[in-house]
Amino acid sequence: MQDTELLQKAREAQKNSYSPYSHFAVGAALLTKSGRVYLGTNIENASYGLSLCAERVAVFKAVSEGEKEFLKIAVVCPASEGVCRPCGSCLQAMREFAPDLTVIMANAKGEQETRTLRELFPYPFGL
Ligand SMILES: [Zn+2]
Repeated sequence: MQDTELLQKAREAQKNSYSPYSHFAVGAALLTKSGRVYLGTNIENASYGLSLCAERVAVFKAVSEGEKEFLKIAVVCPASEGVCRPCGSCLQAMREFAPDLTVIMANAKGEQETRTLRELFPYPFGL
């Protein structure tokens, strides 16, 4: 699957964002080795600490469906300063399953950046 198609799927997921507190909608689309795509979006909560990022929603959906081998993930966010890089918690969660994951990041201004997970997170905990 081309990066542009995966980014488009992430934009579709972004529309389902539940972000009434930050107003910062994020979408993610995770491509697995089997060829399936799992979508995720950020889901916030009135008690902020319960909020969950789009990337981890997508990863946890995939794992809960029996998929543990991931090829790449696209992450999109609104127009912001630079692209939307996954937070440390999401990087650690992705690293658990896919150290060689390709991470495609884009924002609504058309900026785009592709990195490997190893570049973004070279020193994970416990792995
Ligand atoms: Zn995160």
